[in-house]
Parts: sequence; structure tokens; C-alpha cells
Amino acid sequence: MTNKFDYIIVGQGLAGSCLAFHLQQLGQKVLIIDEQKDNTSSKIAAGLYNPITGRKMVLTWKAHLLFDYLYEFYKNIEQKLSKSFLYDTTIYRPFVSLEEQNEWMGKSADENYTPFIKKLHSSPTYGQHLKDEFGGLALKKCGYLDISEFLNASEKYFRSRDLFLNEVFDYNCLEIGETVAYKDFKAEKIIFCTGTEATTGTFFSWLPFNLVKGEVLEITPESDFEQIYNRGVFIMPRRDEKYIVGATYDTKDLTYSITEKARNTLIEKLEVIFKLDYNISGQKAGIRPATKDRKPFVGMHPETDKVGIFNGLGTKGVTLAPYFAKQFSEYLVNGKDVDNEVNVSRYYSLYFRK
Ligand SMILES: Cc1cc2nc3c(=O)[nH]c(=O)nc-3n(C[C@H](O)[C@H](O)[C@H](O)COP(=O)(O)OP(=O)(O)OC[C@H]3O[C@@H](n4cnc5c(N)ncnc54)[C@H](O)[C@@H]3O)c2cc1C
Repeated sequence: MTNKFDYIIVGQGLAGSCLAFHLQQLGQKVLIIDEQKDNTSSKIAAGLYNPITGRKMVLTWKAHLLFDYLYEFYKNIEQKLSKSFLYDTTIYRPFVSLEEQNEWMGKSADENYTPFIKKLHSSPTYGQHLKDEFGGLALKKCGYLDISEFLNASEKYFRSRDLFLNEVFDYNCLEIGETVAYKDFKAEKIIFCTGTEATTGTFFSWLPFNLVKGEVLEITPESDFEQIYNRGVFIMPRRDEKYIVGATYDTKDLTYSITEKARNTLIEKLEVIFKLDYNISGQKAGIRPATKDRKPFVGMHPETDKVGIFNGLGTKGVTLAPYFAKQFSEYLVNGKDVDNEVNVSRYYSLYFRK
């Protein structure tokens, strides 16, 4: 392994992987360090990307920009690594009333929404699987990323080129001067993409994270279906014939244990819309690196431009990571701007107050 790099990236979840590919595309030599834990946010996540979300079904922030680029990026990496991990899949949201159906009749003509609406169903369509007596909304430009497959293939790619180090990053071995030195490795800059671990790490624990635990179930329904159902809870069929049900949100219990409470919450939510019998074959818990203002953390440390962060992807890592990894890499290499809304400089005052 040579020991001189342009960038060291600590963390190979969605954030670190996407940033590493982008920096490499700009001709940079990158070393990734990751300890390969099993319960990281990226490894627990369902991997959904969905342009219209939430109880009020609103277009997600920067949807047009983020979703166009999401396809470009993951498809490109699929080709590069000769693997498939992005699965475009219709998301169907049943209406609960005629009123809601009418509201969407109007909204579906709005040009902001039209690129994401596949079809408005005004009569029951998937009644054999779920309660949809008022029809529902079928969305397009949505689906899921098989994140584990993406991460495994990416790790192999970097490892086979001697650009990957499997170890716990030891902050005591880092020296910051004209350049960055970590053990025997030297680089121009170091970027931390450590997810929830940033809250205990040396450089960025002052940022206003708002960690959110999430749990998902793995189920086997009595019969198969192809679309993702989503209303209060999502039921997502995967290519490997597993169905993922999720997810819960808990800001108080930040342990990695699975809980009876979350299991019951998901079962209750399933009962509201889902008609099929099913067996539960698994349950997982993880913690999302979410932020107080629900925007990512991108940029450099207030006291040194040798140390940066790409984090705070919250509930939407699959969608946010490609676009902001591109933006951050262009900032790092070509000096272009990072959006003020995501730039960590918006919180520098917190650092200096401390
Ligand atoms: C239950 C649940 C469901 C979710 N569902 C979705 C979904 O459907 N769609 C979606 O877009 N998002 C979803 N998310 C959110 C998504 O998982 C995150 O937004 C995203 O994965 C965060 O990626 P990350 O790379 O920032 O962090 P992480 O995935 O946590 O990656 C951080 C990496 O840093 C490494 N690391 C940390 N510290 C060190 C150290 N000291 N030394 C070496 N390595 C270190 C870790 O090993 C890890 O690989 C979900 C999350 C949860 C918990």
C-alpha cells in the first residue's frame, strides 16, 4: 500500500462511499478507513427513495435536483462495479377518504408533482393486499437501493485497489499540520463520514445532531406483490424475496437493541392498511444521524481546513448522499460553493461559543 493520498475518508457508509467515488472521479487519490460494524445506519436502513413523503405527502426538499442526480450516480456506479443495487419500484399510497382522493386529483396536475406521479387510482386497485377502497396514488421515480450490496461492492472495489483500511480510526494517531498524517499515511485533508459516531468523535461533536433510532421488521406475507405500499408504515418487497416493514422513530431510546414496543407499533400500523397474513422473520434496530434542522452537515472544521465532515443524512441518506457528495467534492477540488443550507459554517457560532 502506498502511503500518500489526497484525502483520507473515515467511514464507509452511504456518505463516505458516495464522497469517495466523487473525489475519485475528480482525479483524487482517496484512502477509506472503516471499522466494518454491522449495525450502522446504512446497514440497517430499508434504502427507500421516495419523492413525496410524510403525513402531509409533500414533495421532499430539492426533490427535482436530488432525484435526477440519484439515478445518474447510482446507475453509473452499477456499471462501474458491474453490480445491480438500485431498484426502481412503484410506491402505492392508498387514500383514506374521497376528500383525499379529490385533493390529489387537483394536486396531480401541479407541474411540480407530475414528474413523480405514475397514476392516480380513483377506485380500489390492490384490494387483495390492502385496504384501498378509495383508490390511491402510484408514484414513480422511487424505489429502493440495496444499500448492503452497494456498500459491499464499493468496499471490494476500494480494497482491491489498496485504498481501504479495515480498522477503528484512532484519533490519537492523527496529526494535523501542513498536511494530515495518520499512522504511516499522509494526505492533504481528512473527511469524517462517521454517521452517529460523530457525536462522540474529536472534531464535530458540537454540531446539533438529533439522533433518531429506527426499527424495521422482516416479514414473509402469504402471497407476493411487486409494489411498495406506504401509508403510516411501508411494506417493501425486495429482490431477495424479503419484505421490509418500517420504520419507527425514537429520539429517547438511543440503544441498538430491538424492542417489543417498536415491533408492536409496526404490527399495529400494518393492521390499519395491510390485509395479508404474514410471519415475522426478523427485526433490526439502527440509529439515524439526523440533525436538528433536518439538513445535512457538509464542510470544514471552523479551525482547520484540513478536516471536514459529510454527515447528517438523517432519514434520507439514499437521496441526499449522491447530490451533496458531488457538491462537496467540487468544493474540495475546484473551490465551488456548498449550499448555505447544508454548509456546517451555519453552526460555527456554536463551536466558538463553546
Ligand atoms: C431503521 C432505519 C431505516 C432507514 N431507512 C432509510 C430509508 O429507507 N431510506 C433512506 O434514504 N435512509 C434510511 N435510513 C437512514 C440512512 O440509513 C442514513 O441516512 C445513512 O445510512 C447514513 O449514512 P452515513 O454514511 O452518514 O452513516 P453510517 O451508515 O452510520 O456510516 C458511518 C460509517 O462510519 C464508520 N465509522 C464510524 N466511526 C468510525 C471509526 N472511529 N473508525 C472507523 N470507522 C468508523 C462506521 O463503521 C460506518 O460504516 C434509515 C435508517 C434507519 C436506522
